[in-house]
Amino acid sequence: MAINLNLELTDHCNIKCSMCSQSMRDEAHGMPMQFMEWSTWRAALKGLEGMEEDIHLCPHWLGEPTIHPQFDRFIEYAFAINHGNRLFREFKLHTNAVVFSEERAALLVRLANTPGLAEDTFRFVHFSIDAFTPETYAVVKGADRGEQVNRNVLRFLQERQAMGARYPHATLAFVVQPDNAHEAAAFVEHWRNTLASMGREVALSWDWPSQDRDTIYLRRLNCGDQAASDALHARIVRELGIAPQGQTPLRGAESF
Ligand code: SF4
Repeated sequence: MAINLNLELTDHCNIKCSMCSQSMRDEAHGMPMQFMEWSTWRAALKGLEGMEEDIHLCPHWLGEPTIHPQFDRFIEYAFAINHGNRLFREFKLHTNAVVFSEERAALLVRLANTPGLAEDTFRFVHFSIDAFTPETYAVVKGADRGEQVNRNVLRFLQERQAMGARYPHATLAFVVQPDNAHEAAAFVEHWRNTLASMGREVALSWDWPSQDRDTIYLRRLNCGDQAASDALHARIVRELGIAPQGQTPLRGAESF
């Protein structure tokens, strides 16, 4: 059995996505937002020793983990003490890629290829992008960071290729909503071509990615009018040939 474990490095975020309640409130857990202490991170990792279940670790729940002032130190430490996967079997990172330098990209690829760990330990980096053009990015994400994010994600992919690494896979995510649906096709084409030019196999998914490869993920929006949101998502993924015609995309048990 596996346990998905989220250790939230911070509930702060650096942008304001229109579809995220995190961006609309001053607190997320009934108290002021904060950054995890180093001692808490160390103790939490130590607590994984001897667990019988496979631990699938993610340093994120709400907020943006990469803006933790010691993000690189925290992640490097976790991998350094995970000899033989004794603490966690899998690791995944969710990020908006706004703060994602070349050094950070190289560090993550290097950690994913740490000697002594199962090859697929660092399963994927989930990039929440949600737009193709900077203009739409600004509307959906509440920040003029579209060009920067596209550049950062591309540089990560290039870094991974330059290092000849299979992992971490990249999930390029796009939450389908009225403000960006018109760009879904361009988003898919752009990232599919980019990955293909690097010789990567890529999956297209309308539900939580489960294949062992890079994935372009058109995700449905959770909102007040769920029926309308589901209908828009179903139309877009059918038009793009991601969900078979005549089949209603259903939310999988693992959807996120
Ligand atoms: S980047 Fe993530 S946490 Fe931040 S506002 Fe967007 S969806 Fe919410």
